[in-house]
Amino acid sequence: MRWNVSEMDVESIQDLPEREAMEFDVVIVGAGPAGLSAAIRFKQINPELSVVVLEKGAEVGAHILSGAVVDPVGIDRLLPGWREEEEHRFKTEVKDDQFLFLGPAGSIRLPNMLMPPLMNNHGNYIVSLGLVCRWLAEKAEALGVEIYPGFAASEVLYNDEGAVIGVATGDMGVERNGEHGPNYTRGMELLGKYTLIGEGVRGSLAKQLIARFDLQKDREPQKFGIGIKELWQVTPEKHRQGLVQHSFGWPLGFRTGGGSFLYHLEDNLVAVGFVVHLNYKNPYLYPFEEFQRFNTHPAIRDTFEGGKRLSYGARAITEGGYQSVPKLTFPGGALIGCSAGLVNVPRIKGSHNAVLSGMLAADRIADAIAAERAQGRGCRNRERMAR
Ligand SMILES: Cc1cc2nc3c(=O)[nH]c(=O)nc-3n(C[C@H](O)[C@H](O)[C@H](O)COP(=O)(O)OP(=O)(O)OC[C@H]3O[C@@H](n4cnc5c(N)ncnc54)[C@H](O)[C@@H]3O)c2cc1C
Repeated sequence: MRWNVSEMDVESIQDLPEREAMEFDVVIVGAGPAGLSAAIRFKQINPELSVVVLEKGAEVGAHILSGAVVDPVGIDRLLPGWREEEEHRFKTEVKDDQFLFLGPAGSIRLPNMLMPPLMNNHGNYIVSLGLVCRWLAEKAEALGVEIYPGFAASEVLYNDEGAVIGVATGDMGVERNGEHGPNYTRGMELLGKYTLIGEGVRGSLAKQLIARFDLQKDREPQKFGIGIKELWQVTPEKHRQGLVQHSFGWPLGFRTGGGSFLYHLEDNLVAVGFVVHLNYKNPYLYPFEEFQRFNTHPAIRDTFEGGKRLSYGARAITEGGYQSVPKLTFPGGALIGCSAGLVNVPRIKGSHNAVLSGMLAADRIADAIAAERAQGRGCRNRERMAR
């Protein structure tokens, strides 16, 4: 029996049609920078490995918030020749890095020499992370990775020994009242010798696995912030390609942690965002409203006058740092990227660590598979793996 459900549910599940199962060497949940980098790495090491990536967004990149400053250290290691390619997505190198303290009516620019070196963005790129993911997905597919957008992994599957043997996608066509509609289709089981969880921040499967395998033991609790982002097309005279601007202070004040970012990409695009640490005490504070107030500040609003907001979104960000990173491995797999909380908080950057952690996990797992191990045990027997 390999259902991840309570005893009470077993009876009703037994009435359901069998789920179809597909077998792979590696199952990866999430087509973010972590999952896609892992997938590419597996195929670079051994083109014969069968690798599948599940992505809950309707297309790769659909759930990734655009506009990020990325340290290329990860991509340099994954795809060393990328700079020679025409179609890469790192078009805007950081040219100017500004740090502002905002008061209600004015701002002070802090001298760059006072900022810790790790906050220096020299050599980094301003990108649309969604486009970077699509580019990575094209590379992965060209190497033979199977990517299935529009499918959320909703359940972790275990074998009798308690090791993870894959995931199942959710049933489709369930009505609001829980009954099966005319288009009801049972989910699929994707079985792998190893499973990588690259769901991003606070994913539902990662939460289950952290609890089940006690991965947070002896670590500090994870902390979270909420990040709200907008992508604007501004008028050409307001655009300064390569400018990175961070601020703190107004409208949050000194009792609430957080700050803003403003990144000028190519094509007159500006990504503006606001992060609020989720330990704020003021019950009347609404991060979205603070963000809109921030946009009216004299040092900020001018950039957007005459411009047009193209898209917006919000997402959590892990802020616990190194001491909150859980144990990364469990029998049958590993947590990668922001599923493991690998954001470098003072740098406000996590995508390079997502890439590097995906690669590292792939290196170790490819070794294990080459040594004929599955779920961390010496076994190539698919029967035993699955049942
Ligand atoms: C506001 C904000 C600003 C940021 N700015 C920067 C920055 O400037 N520079 C930087 O380096 N980093 C930045 N980060 C952090 C960066 O976005 C993350 O570190 C990085 O995206 C993590 O990559 P990931 O692959 O682990 O997860 P994600 O990028 O979150 O990707 C996870 C993917 O998995 C999919 N998924 C989730 N659950 C499931 C499931 N059950 N089944 C199938 N698919 C699933 C999601 O749809 C998503 O596509 C920022 C984060 C925020 C919130």
